[in-house]
Amino acid sequence: MLLGAIEAGGTKFICAVGNQKGEILEKKSFPTTTPKETMEEVIEFFYDKKIEAMGVGSFGPIDLDKNSKTYGCITTTPKPYWSNYNILEELKKHFDFPINLDTDVNGAALGEATWGSAVGLDSVIYLTVGTGIGGGVYSGGKLVHGMTHPETGHILVRRAVGDKYKGKCLYHGDCLEGMASGPAIEERWGIKGYELPKAHSAWELEAYYLAQGLVNYILIISPKKIIMGGGVMKQEQLFPLIRGEVVKLLNGYVSHKNILGNIEEYIVSPKLGDNAGICGALALALESF
Ligand code: ADP
Ligand code: ZN
Repeated sequence: MLLGAIEAGGTKFICAVGNQKGEILEKKSFPTTTPKETMEEVIEFFYDKKIEAMGVGSFGPIDLDKNSKTYGCITTTPKPYWSNYNILEELKKHFDFPINLDTDVNGAALGEATWGSAVGLDSVIYLTVGTGIGGGVYSGGKLVHGMTHPETGHILVRRAVGDKYKGKCLYHGDCLEGMASGPAIEERWGIKGYELPKAHSAWELEAYYLAQGLVNYILIISPKKIIMGGGVMKQEQLFPLIRGEVVKLLNGYVSHKNILGNIEEYIVSPKLGDNAGICGALALALESF
């Protein structure tokens, strides 16, 4: 059975054909320009592919309430031209197989639970730290949707002592994304994250903020695994720093072997690597049956 997958990002749309084993058989990227231009290319790519279902993991926020008039719309993005664009409706005009839309990070969480580092677990959080910070939440064997969908990147964090940086979030300034996204690192230090030395104090500060996010997710959702991906997490020295901060901030309160004994296997990178997003969309396609 062939499945279609779209990882709809603010920079590019990755389109792929894959199967129920999570294998990607064909893949092509298109730049994210205007909805008209980008979607024309996406639709043309899938036209003759003989797929039976499609999953779309999209940047957002998106309206996922099936009873809403704007179900399927990208809502408040600062990305020019894409605000209030209904991506699902456009795809449905062209294809009559089932199409399952969710956030890119919810898709990635599902993909990791289906084929990646959280196979067999019914509760997992996937956090991406890149241009923005976003998290997918899979809990009780289901992707979490509520009033809208979780926005784990915009939670409020406690400032590090002496940190005067104003923050980069357009909406909140110094929320987690505002303090720890890739662009926040660049603005704070005046140099891109990947140009900073691995021993720079920037990474301790970065770990301090990201760990606060993780601690809140642990306390609210109690996930069985936390997977951290995205460009910034290519800095592998962050992992031990984050794990250490999580233990310190929890201070023995969540007394579980995952935290106290085995945290190297609890806070991990995506096993699907750079394919976490597109395999996530593939998992969304599979879920549509
Ligand atoms: P996006 O979030 O746009 O999908 P990425 O996850 O690659 O894409 O995130 C891009 C951000 O991550 C940029 O701010 C970039 O500077 C930062 N980044 C990318 N690679 C690295 C790296 N190896 N180390 C630190 N920061 C990185
Ligand atoms: Zn914010």
